[in-house]
Amino acid sequence: MSTRKDAAFATKCIHGGLAPDPLTGSVMTPIYQTSTYAQSAPGVHQGYAYARTKNPTRSALQDNLASIENGTHGICFSSGLAAMDNVLKLLSPGDEVLASDDLYGGSYRLLTTVFGRFGIKSRFIDMRDAAAVADRVTSETKMLWIETPTNPMLNIVDIAVLTDIAKRRNLISVVDNTFASPYLQQPLDLGADLVLHSATKYLGGHSDVVMGAVVTNDEDLAQQLYYLQNAAGAVPGPQDCFLVLRGIKTLHLRVERACQNAKRIVAVLNANELVANVYYPGQTDHPGHDIAKKQMRDFGAMISFDLKDDTMEAATQVMKNTHYFTLAESLGGVESLIGHPATMTHASIPREQRLSVGLTDSLIRLSVGIEDGTDLVKDLELALAAAVGVA
Ligand SMILES: *Cc1c(COP(=O)(O)O)cnc(C)c1O
Repeated sequence: MSTRKDAAFATKCIHGGLAPDPLTGSVMTPIYQTSTYAQSAPGVHQGYAYARTKNPTRSALQDNLASIENGTHGICFSSGLAAMDNVLKLLSPGDEVLASDDLYGGSYRLLTTVFGRFGIKSRFIDMRDAAAVADRVTSETKMLWIETPTNPMLNIVDIAVLTDIAKRRNLISVVDNTFASPYLQQPLDLGADLVLHSATKYLGGHSDVVMGAVVTNDEDLAQQLYYLQNAAGAVPGPQDCFLVLRGIKTLHLRVERACQNAKRIVAVLNANELVANVYYPGQTDHPGHDIAKKQMRDFGAMISFDLKDDTMEAATQVMKNTHYFTLAESLGGVESLIGHPATMTHASIPREQRLSVGLTDSLIRLSVGIEDGTDLVKDLELALAAAVGVA
């Protein structure tokens, strides 16, 4: 580790786990674009034998990730879902996962249609109700799968309360920290066993790479995950590891600015007469506001809102009329994105079920980027006006 014990987050983003390349002094981590390494005699090598098992660029990223999540071990995978796939492979047939009922769609799909076939059962539950979570734990339950803030309703669950239940009942607690990023929230400090990222989002931060990561403080879980990383083989390439390392160097600045922009946009949406509800944990009337204040540094840059004219048509008009907000899936990049959960990310959920959690036909989700805040605010105001034919 090349940061002092008391290093602050920003310093860890830039120096955590990193050192100049020992061979050349290269200040930036080189891209070791190789699949294999020379051995001086059979089995005699410098710690690197084959690149699925170990690659210096990936090792540097893993050490950096461990540093920024306050963990001892980082383990990278070829996507966020590949990271989740490997975490679920810690389980065995007959085991049960208790998961958040407002979950990333791909996580729900992997739990139900893939791991369900291998005899690993999943139950979905509103994790805002900690007592209900404790009640649902059975002798088969082995893992608690937590996501906060949730997608797209931006619900907040209390990580410390849930990881405490997990500890008392001997469950592995996992927090998907993709929406918050380690700049805003550090689940290992709140008692989580594993923290998971789709590095595709805020960690990479430039919408140019797909990757996943797990960070832990638990030596035994780390060794099992390193084993699975090599045994199942869903590893990221060195070029992508370099890109995520580069992304993390500005993580603190990007998320800080995106949060500032998000707050300005929330204020404007609240004041707009075409908008019905705004979902953002930074609002004092958000039911999870106090928990968010306790466990997050700031409230994030994801916002959802719906329209008084609660129709797909009205929402479509808004999304077709933004200039800087690009209509696209994903989140966490420097550029602002706009999306329609009902027809995009959450299209597979039956309408009645969607409506019951507040995911209305006109619900629009924003991933606020780091463009000029005034330009973003104006862009949304013009798009809303165009939707009713005012502009
Ligand atoms: C995107 C995402 C994932 C999946 O990550 P990929 O890199 O797309 O495989 C998992 N969880 C959350 C919360 C996400 O937003």
